[in-house]
Parts: sequence; C-alpha cells; structure tokens
Amino acid sequence: MTPLFSALNASGALRFISEVARGSGCGCSCPVCGSPLVARQGAANEWHFAHEASQERPECETASASMLRRLMIEHLRAREGTGGLPLPPYRQRVSIVRTLINVHEDVQWRARPMGHAQWQPLAPAHEPVVRVRLDTGVELHIHVVLDASAPPPPEAAVAQAVFRCPLPPPGVLRDRGSVDRHLAQHAELVWLHHPDTMGLIAAAQARLESRSRQIYRNWLNMAHAAGGPATVDEAEDSRPAPLFYGPATPILPESAPRYDCAPGHAPNISFTFYRLSETEAWLLYLLERKGPADWRAASEKLYALAPYPARFAGWEDAVPTSVGVADRVAGIVRCRGFLDAVTYLSRRSQLTRSGRDPSVFLGA
Ligand SMILES: [Zn+2]
Repeated sequence: MTPLFSALNASGALRFISEVARGSGCGCSCPVCGSPLVARQGAANEWHFAHEASQERPECETASASMLRRLMIEHLRAREGTGGLPLPPYRQRVSIVRTLINVHEDVQWRARPMGHAQWQPLAPAHEPVVRVRLDTGVELHIHVVLDASAPPPPEAAVAQAVFRCPLPPPGVLRDRGSVDRHLAQHAELVWLHHPDTMGLIAAAQARLESRSRQIYRNWLNMAHAAGGPATVDEAEDSRPAPLFYGPATPILPESAPRYDCAPGHAPNISFTFYRLSETEAWLLYLLERKGPADWRAASEKLYALAPYPARFAGWEDAVPTSVGVADRVAGIVRCRGFLDAVTYLSRRSQLTRSGRDPSVFLGA
C-alpha cells in the first residue's frame, strides 16, 4: 500500500507532504478518520504523513488511494475547463466466430458532450463522478478509478467511460506539480460501453452475417462441385445443388447403384473426390444408416473418407485423429464431423471433384 502523501489542513484544503511544516506542526488531519497527523520528512524514508503516536487504523489504509482519486477528479475537471472532456472516438469490435467463420469489423464513432457536465466530485468509487448528455442521444457516466480498482457495474441504458490512471511511483507523490505531470502523462479516459443508438453495431452485425453466409456457401460449393464433369452434371439441374443428398427423385435404395470404392456409402448420394498428392486421394461421402429407413430425415449424419481408388500405403494414419479415426476392417476413416473433414481436405487439396458416380474420378 502507498503511504499517505497528502492530507487535509484545518480548512479542509488538500496539502502535499512537501508543502507543510515538519512533524505535528503540519496542522493536517487524516482524510479518512479525521485524526491529527504528523509530517514525516526524514532522509531515510519516503516523505509521508502518519497518525500521531502511530495510531494507524485499518480503514485509513485507503486514505492514500482516495486522495489520489480526488486528485484525478480535480485533474479531469481542470481538463474539461480548458479543452473539454478528453473523449476518444468510441470503438467496438463486432465479430462472428464459428466452425468455418472468423470475421470481424471494427466500428467507430464520435460522441461529443452537449451542454454542461454535472459533477459529483465526492461520489464514492462505484458511482459516476460526471454525468453529461452526448450528441449521440444518450447520457454518459464517467467513473474515476485507480488502475487496480474494479470497473463500475455495467448499465445498459447509458454510455460509460472510466478515467483511470496507474498508481504513481512513490517519489512522484511528494508535491502537486509532479502528481499533475504524472496524471497528464498517464491518466486516460477510456470507453467501457456506448449503446448502439445509431444502429451502427447492428448494421455491422448484419454485414458480417451476410459475409458468413457467403463464406459458408463457398465452402459447401467447393466441397460439393468444384469443376470437372460433375459440375456440368449439376449445371443441368436448375434446383439448388444438394449436398450429399440424393437426386430430387431418388432411385429406390434397393435398386440404387453401389460402389465398391466407397464402402458403406448411403444410396443416391454425391461423392467428393480430393487429391492431396500423387499417391494420396480420398472420397468423402455419407455413410448409410443402420436403423431408420429414411436416412435423409435422420438428424445425425455420419461421413467417411475412403482411400481412392484403393487403399494406399499408410492410409490408416494419413488423416489426423481430430478429423477421423481409421476403421481398418471397413477400410475407411470414420469422420468426426463433416465440416472438420471438409476443412482439412479443402486446405490440402490439389484437385477437388464431385459427382454421383465415383468411377469418374479415376485418373484425376
Ligand atoms: Zn486515519
């Protein structure tokens, strides 16, 4: 804790340790308990005030912090009087983070005080010291806090800012001039919150949502139909391209063709082919469900990666286990999730194809 560097004189004015007579002749009292103080201005220790006969009380430990806060309030008030409240532009980052999406936008606006600020210089730390109307249509509450203090409780209906300052090093606290220099250099007015009165945050959110949908669509398109004969096939169909679903009029599962290169695949689906290297290629597809007859209505869909056109050396360990786990008996990698598999493969793919007959990828 910081030793007491300033105190109140007989008329209640603030006095610094270097501004008073030595010892009990200082004529100052403790700002917390009101007891008389002595000024210690020795050579060995940092100059400070102490209670007479060292009668320090636990509650007086906050005296130094509350004096510093009082100085910050006076400093802010003086700045308002000369150049206005030093309010920086308000900034807020709006972001959307999902499996495949990580987008953000920095929104910024200016808010200027209108009319006179109401000051409550003796307000306790959890209450605002300044209330002032802003040209953005809300009231601004400014709290004055020392760096170590907790921020004030949030209030949704008003704008909030804090005037904060790191604790000065001991030598700075001896006289008013150096404290003021410290405040001028280090104290700052920082926004906590500004309600979205002009709809700028909402507009940014809408833009990001739309961008996210576009990114997601691009991923799905890439996964579903990236060039080749499959694209021609899809282009003839004017309906929105289905993703790993069957054609609009599905062939009965019993008579749907089955492909040995895709063990356990569901009937009537598209296959996506990924060539990662000369020796490594995969088919990504939906697995047939054991159980409910209509697999398209099932909520849980399981996907597999099959080494294509056949098992290659080291296929069991080629895909990280975070993407899927090899089933050596079935000869496939069972995917943990569709999007993780698409993400993994798309980033490494030299060539991607999609189609309903996986034999067309031979030689690709
Ligand atoms: Zn005291």
